[in-house]
Amino acid sequence: MENSKTEKLVIIGSGPAGLTAAIYAARGALDPLVVAGREAGGQLMLTTDVDDFPGFPEGIQGPELMGKMRKQAERFNTRFINEDVVSIDFSKKPFIIKTESQAIQAKSVIIATGASAMWLNIESEQRLRGKGVSACAVCDGFFFKGKNVIVIGGGDAAMREAQHLSKICNKVTVIHRRDSLRAQDALQQLVKSKPNVEFRWNSAIEEVLGTDKVTGVKIKNLQTNEISEMPIDAVFVAIGHKPNTDFLKGQIELDEKGYISVHDETKTSVDGVFFAGDVADKKYKQAVTAAGMGTKAALDVEEYLEKVGPQ
Ligand code: NAP
Repeated sequence: MENSKTEKLVIIGSGPAGLTAAIYAARGALDPLVVAGREAGGQLMLTTDVDDFPGFPEGIQGPELMGKMRKQAERFNTRFINEDVVSIDFSKKPFIIKTESQAIQAKSVIIATGASAMWLNIESEQRLRGKGVSACAVCDGFFFKGKNVIVIGGGDAAMREAQHLSKICNKVTVIHRRDSLRAQDALQQLVKSKPNVEFRWNSAIEEVLGTDKVTGVKIKNLQTNEISEMPIDAVFVAIGHKPNTDFLKGQIELDEKGYISVHDETKTSVDGVFFAGDVADKKYKQAVTAAGMGTKAALDVEEYLEKVGPQ
């Protein structure tokens, strides 16, 4: 159903970037409409302890933080649609954003759709997803209480997964393709101090074993090429994220990895379309930096709408 009203600003995404943009835009009288997505709240909804978001000296749970941000945006009358975007048309103005139930017209757009977990992309991993293969220890760790699991990866996400699982599982083995971690030092030390966490260095998963549930893995030693089998109950993949930009292909410029190409501060290649957060951030990817980019995008939209005037 096409609505004849043209929104001043539509924000796509409801993680820290989208919600901070909403708070600033609402306080700047832009009356924003947030298309929050079916998995509203972004990656922090899949996180437990957040200890590095300023203002919470005792730490805060990820979903609670996102709930507070949403309430703050609602306090200034931000409106929300809890649906995914199905398609967009940025070729003419006003822009058209189609969700599952409606078509929205907008003078300006902020894209804050974040990033999603990457997979190894081997056949056995994909076949056993949801049957012992997961990319979210917080969501699925509980199913493997008292069991033996592996975590793949050597970054912050892998250490967070290992730390969480060490509290639930009997034994956690971190499988990493090199002999050193890229995770921040504090997290490395925390995980290395856990008596039930082991590391297998210079190793890669060749195959996940099992028919209707995970029973083990085939591991290749990348220095000797030797292949061994390890019986295991679950595999947690934590090897990075990819930006959620598939719906933007052909509409705005993306780089070779799918991140939104940056055109001066928070501008995209399309005049009137802005971005915030992990969807364009290859480096920092923190809730705080995403929130900061949300602020910048909202202020840039305010300036843009003042410049173009009523359309
Ligand atoms: P990341 O930092 O890119 O680390 C990905 C890890 O997976 C690396 O160790 C990488 O190995 C490994 N890897 C990549 N592709 C692989 C493959 N095909 N097979 C096997 N291993 C593979 O990603 P991330 O850990 O998801 O973190 C992403 C960003 O979010 C980072 O900026 C991080 O700081 C942030 N983050 C922060 C927190 C926090 O608590 N503050 C928590 C989670 C994430 P190499 O090391 O060999 O490249």
